[in-house]
Amino acid sequence: MVRVVVVGGGVSGVGTALALLKRQPQCHLTILAQDFSPATTGDGAAGLWEPYLTGETPYDKVGQWSLGTWKLFSEWWRSGLARKMGVNLLQGAIVGEEDCRIEPWHHLAFYCKDLTQEQCMQINPKYRSGFKLASMTGEVSKFLPVLLEEVKSLGGRLEVRRVSSLQEAAAEADLVINCAGLGSRDLVPDPTVYPCRGQVIRVRAPWIGEFLCDIATELSTYIIANTDTVVLGGTHQNHDWRLDVDPNDSQTIWDNCTTLMPSLKRAEVVQEWVGLRPCRKEGVRLEADEILLDSRTVPVVHNYGHGGCGVTLFWGCGQEAAAIASDLIYKYHGPPSRL
Ligand SMILES: Cc1cc2nc3c(=O)[nH]c(=O)nc-3n(C[C@H](O)[C@H](O)[C@H](O)COP(=O)(O)OP(=O)(O)OC[C@H]3O[C@@H](n4cnc5c(N)ncnc54)[C@H](O)[C@@H]3O)c2cc1C
Repeated sequence: MVRVVVVGGGVSGVGTALALLKRQPQCHLTILAQDFSPATTGDGAAGLWEPYLTGETPYDKVGQWSLGTWKLFSEWWRSGLARKMGVNLLQGAIVGEEDCRIEPWHHLAFYCKDLTQEQCMQINPKYRSGFKLASMTGEVSKFLPVLLEEVKSLGGRLEVRRVSSLQEAAAEADLVINCAGLGSRDLVPDPTVYPCRGQVIRVRAPWIGEFLCDIATELSTYIIANTDTVVLGGTHQNHDWRLDVDPNDSQTIWDNCTTLMPSLKRAEVVQEWVGLRPCRKEGVRLEADEILLDSRTVPVVHNYGHGGCGVTLFWGCGQEAAAIASDLIYKYHGPPSRL
């Protein structure tokens, strides 16, 4: 039986593991991770379907991968699983002081349309550019535990452990899938991977059902409704490794968001949270590689560097990573009947 080790228990790792188990039910798969939900990067994210901070990832790939997740969220919605999986349909606006434009992938969403300068200025006089978007959110803290159960029901194992290199994982595997996010900086090693610190405040404000994002600036102010709560953001601080809540950032987020939507002053704060987006200069790395051990060569599939939109990309990326992994299993070990 082919032994597969997936390093990483965030959306990328779990999505890839599930896609591979569906393609290769006979493989012996383990997800090995230092942290599982609710302690992964996606667990505190608003999960807005919106490709953001994608580095130099090719446009066609961003479109292809985000379409994969769009279809999954839509399927959950249509089949009555929206509440359980934390999927919310919502419309909103993406605005900025200048040059805030519709990208090709936005046309995959329900609806997108440019706003006039006057409409932007009605949101706040500082905005000059923007567009409307009807999209979805997928809350990782709700759907990831469900996907983990599915992995287990298909025979996958979970192991809580930190590894110090991919070689260490490869020593006990015939194939390694690297979904370690920011951890890839040391594990690969890949020095082009860096953190983009994001701090948010989660509030209860059931009267807010839309989103508003000003993501063009360092402050990255946004208000995004989830199923039960609303996420107020945020920061995007490159190369900042701090995981503790910064009271100055909290104050700035609160001031900016309540200026944009004064009714938020009545909202009850339920959580303050910091996550480090796994950014990479060249964007997502999704490709085959190999590790040379003393006695053998172990094939590897990398799937990391999803930056500010790993939720948006996870299902599409997981499908592609699983397809590459399947080809490698075939190449190194032959068809399933011979395993
Ligand atoms: C504030 C904030 C808001 C965001 N909002 C959105 C949004 O609205 N929409 C969107 O699409 N995206 C959003 N994102 C981005 C998204 O959350 C991330 O891109 C995504 O969660 C990355 O998932 P991942 O599985 O690749 O990495 P991670 O979730 O970081 O998982 C990495 C995994 O690897 C494991 N690992 C790492 N190193 C090791 C090691 N040495 N040994 C063992 N295990 C290891 C970790 O324990 C973890 O299990 C947001 C992020 C932040 C911080």
